[in-house]
Amino acid sequence: MPSAWKADRIRSATTTIFAEMSALALATQSINLGQGFPDTDGPAFMLEEACAAIAGGMNQYPPGRGILPLRQAIAAHSRRTYGLGYDPESEILVTTGATEALAASILAFVDPGDEVIALEPFYDSYAASIELAGGQRVGVGLFGPDFRLDHAELAAAFTPRTKALLINSPHNPTGVVLDRSDLAAIAELAVQHDVLVICDEVYEHLTFDDAEHLPLATLPGMRERTVRISSAGKTFSATGWKIGWALATPELINEITAVKQFLSYVSGAPFQPAVARALNEGDEWVEKARLDLQDRRDQLAAGFRSIGLEPILPRGSYFMTTDVRPLGYTDGVEFCRQLPTRCGIVAIPHQVFYDRTEAGRPYVRWAFCKQEQVLAEAIRRLDALRKPA
Ligand code: PMP
Ligand code: GLN
Repeated sequence: MPSAWKADRIRSATTTIFAEMSALALATQSINLGQGFPDTDGPAFMLEEACAAIAGGMNQYPPGRGILPLRQAIAAHSRRTYGLGYDPESEILVTTGATEALAASILAFVDPGDEVIALEPFYDSYAASIELAGGQRVGVGLFGPDFRLDHAELAAAFTPRTKALLINSPHNPTGVVLDRSDLAAIAELAVQHDVLVICDEVYEHLTFDDAEHLPLATLPGMRERTVRISSAGKTFSATGWKIGWALATPELINEITAVKQFLSYVSGAPFQPAVARALNEGDEWVEKARLDLQDRRDQLAAGFRSIGLEPILPRGSYFMTTDVRPLGYTDGVEFCRQLPTRCGIVAIPHQVFYDRTEAGRPYVRWAFCKQEQVLAEAIRRLDALRKPA
């Protein structure tokens, strides 16, 4: 293909790091701690419900905003969990994963030349979606080793061109969970500059120790300027189903729906009643999955300590970070390239999520949403890192 055929708008969009690293894991028969997906299924009753929906003929286009019972279940979950009510008729949109909710929100509200402030490192689809909209991303750094939000840097990031803020908490890849003071600072600035806030809350239920996810929309004055986005992929271990949603005021949801219609039109019909049932009946399953995941986190952390590497413990998400400098490396990309042949494991370098790549250079992300025996084998293999490369 002549390179001139490619649109300038997507010049920098190439194969995602996740696809690249998962292919590498397959090719080298490595344990894949790169791409974040669990290796066990969600609740059995949810899986059965999807099978029953297919068998029962729920195989044609569902309503554009999602079936009403799913929107009702999403509303009930939000009210029960956070005390935040949304009208299922006008304030909820079911999407093809959180990815589509993010893309549709960005395309609906960002014009060419507009700036979008986002926490850096950024989840990879943010950069691509902002670029597709012709916008400019402005990073506010979460820098290692503690990855704290710098409130002064956030305040300084606003300009007259700032159109929206994109907040991700619990945060991928750092595992940071923004606390009340971070959220208060964000809310104050959003109101002061009169901008929209898009909140990626896909890891809302994956928090550990005393960390608690608090939606920004619960803060005074925020509900009307916030789009909340989440996904059944994370909460119910069904990343391949691609059922996500957006919650916002009727006016905001109308605009996001207008875009969604022309991205995917509607989202997977038979998965919708299944996710509705999981939201209605799955609280116990979710809590158990969270505690199991915390155990897996601690298992992998102990494995790193056993080879003399102190991990940076996440308070949320299913990703853990290590600094590879104690292993004799200065560059996480180089480390991740050698890791499959050195010990049969795949991980993701933080650098790919940063514009300021220097800040991410020594850090590597490891997914721990894997079965106990898989992590035990990974830890056994990590022992090879004790020997010189
Ligand atoms: N946001 C973040 C922070 C993620 O880690 C992911 C991971 N998949 C997504 C959005 C996308 O979610 P989905 O698979 O539901 O599109
Ligand atoms: N969210 C997952 C991760 O961060 C992967 C999603 C994807 O492959 N696009 O690993």
